Amino acid sequence: MTELSCDICGGRAERFENADFPIEYRGLRAVARNLSGVRCLDGEDCGEVLFDAASAHNYGRLGGELVSRRSSMWVGRFDASASNLA
Ligand SMILES: [Zn+2]
Repeated sequence: MTELSCDICGGRAERFENADFPIEYRGLRAVARNLSGVRCLDGEDCGEVLFDAASAHNYGRLGGELVSRRSSMWVGRFDASASNLA
């Protein structure tokens, strides 16, 4: 197996496949599943994760869904207060 190094810190890195990564955005949580890429093993100081293209797309899309879900919660709260006024 080829020795990998981290693009950021130059430390040791490893290839991973089918890993799950939790995403959290302002109290909302989701898990992006089956991601692959390379991660830094110097977790304390660096911990950089570089996803493969398809995994980066999936991770970003799920993160975007959390942001829009959070936004629609605000809209819901606004509508609720508006109906209290009626
Ligand atoms: Zn690193």
